[in-house]
Amino acid sequence: MDERTRRALTDIVGEENYTESLIDMVSYSYDASEHSHRPSCGIWPRSAEQVAEILKLANREKVPVIPRGAGTGLSGMAVPVRGGIVLDLSRMNRIVKISIEDRLAVVQPGVVYADLEKVLAAKGFFFPPDPASGKASTLGGNVATNAGGLKGAKYGTTRDYVLALQVVLPDGRIMKTGSRAMKSVSGYDLTRLFVGSEGTLGLVTEITLKISPRPEATSTALATFDDLEDAGHALTEVMHSGIIPSALEILGRETIRAINQNTDLDLPEVDAMILVETDGYTHGETDYQMQKVLDVFNLNNPREVKRAENQKEASGLWEARKSAYGVLARIKTHFVLEDVTVPMSRIADLLKGIDSIARRHDIQIATFGHAGDGNLHPQILYDGYDPEQVKKMEAASGELFKLAIDLDGTLTGEHGIGLAKAPYMTLEHDETEMAVMRGIKRFFDPNNILNPGKMALEG
Ligand SMILES: Cc1cc2nc3c(=O)[nH]c(=O)nc-3n(C[C@H](O)[C@H](O)[C@H](O)COP(=O)(O)OP(=O)(O)OC[C@H]3O[C@@H](n4cnc5c(N)ncnc54)[C@H](O)[C@@H]3O)c2cc1C
Repeated sequence: MDERTRRALTDIVGEENYTESLIDMVSYSYDASEHSHRPSCGIWPRSAEQVAEILKLANREKVPVIPRGAGTGLSGMAVPVRGGIVLDLSRMNRIVKISIEDRLAVVQPGVVYADLEKVLAAKGFFFPPDPASGKASTLGGNVATNAGGLKGAKYGTTRDYVLALQVVLPDGRIMKTGSRAMKSVSGYDLTRLFVGSEGTLGLVTEITLKISPRPEATSTALATFDDLEDAGHALTEVMHSGIIPSALEILGRETIRAINQNTDLDLPEVDAMILVETDGYTHGETDYQMQKVLDVFNLNNPREVKRAENQKEASGLWEARKSAYGVLARIKTHFVLEDVTVPMSRIADLLKGIDSIARRHDIQIATFGHAGDGNLHPQILYDGYDPEQVKKMEAASGELFKLAIDLDGTLTGEHGIGLAKAPYMTLEHDETEMAVMRGIKRFFDPNNILNPGKMALEG
């Protein structure tokens, strides 16, 4: 960073909240994806007013600004691909207010998901999106990526809970969107526009979230299927059986095999394993729902159906699903974790298509994911030091995206576009839609300073 800009920035936040140290620059150069690029400096702002001053300066000097939460993104969204200033929001981490009466929480963006959950749990409430990265990822990051998770089928994603935002625009103006009322149709829904915008339109400095009473009772079961078609039918039938499970997860054969090779869980090596959880405010309620699910499983030729009798058994059943990402991440030197999403009725086609792509390109793809909302995670495992394997991975990724679109689905259900999926945006969005998205970006950020180079917004 040049001396003049550096001085202007430290005047705003103080020397103690500014860094150019090598270790910080390396840390800020990557997220949880395969992408990396070093910034010029990092800043820890403490207030919306400081953020506004930084953005005014950056806009004047045309320096890129990259908002950053915990850096757990899987698509290179927080990678400073054009250098510039990383605005690390992790020190704006105050829970401003929890109002049970109004059923809402007001938080700064650097609050970690699990920290809010802990406070809400003590009051008998929860914030449902539940991303698997919840122990580390920030609510600002969750809002900017519209994070989802295990409970998506029943409870939706972050977007469904954001009532209001405070946002700093690239020119430094501070804007409030939405309201603290449970519903509002007042003007354009700018709140929703910012949710999932990956830090390309404005910097979120305060979030008002709707919270829900926590259902304390749960039931858990597992079913295994020798045939993908049977598993696919079971999934769709569960979802129109009149109840909605709080979690409906699937593990494919490759994932099961990898778990067996790397743990002592000794799972049956079937085409598909489905895990299901129902929740409610009484055990009678969860039992009723679970019985419906078990009836559906039993009508679709399962090899085995097992219901947990207590919490210990339930945790045992979840162990395989929870170990999937970690086990698969260790198998090869590199991996990409995709999150293609299709309508429920196309899940079996997606699973079969993934197997066929893996065979054609002679590459290992292990799949697991949130079957309840059609969101699967094919994890492509490869040796990143072998150019041949890299080529195979790229070809397989491209085909995977095309497959999802052909099945009326989407490139990404929760991990976002960032850098990783930017080249594929036009597969899903036609010329007109791309032109509107690029127009929105230009309207908010005419100098293209905010998280530039992402989401194919510059075409
Ligand atoms: C093991 C693992 C499991 C995961 N599981 C899930 C999952 O179940 N569901 C899911 O949805 N994702 C999951 N993810 C991905 C990731 O955790 C989410 O995308 C998460 O929401 C990112 O939060 P973060 O704080 O790390 O944001 P970062 O990675 O730091 O940033 C993500 C994006 O948000 C922008 N941003 C961050 N803060 C702000 C702000 N205050 N204002 C404006 N823009 C901002 C950044 O510029 C960037 O574009 C997982 C990742 C890992 C590594």
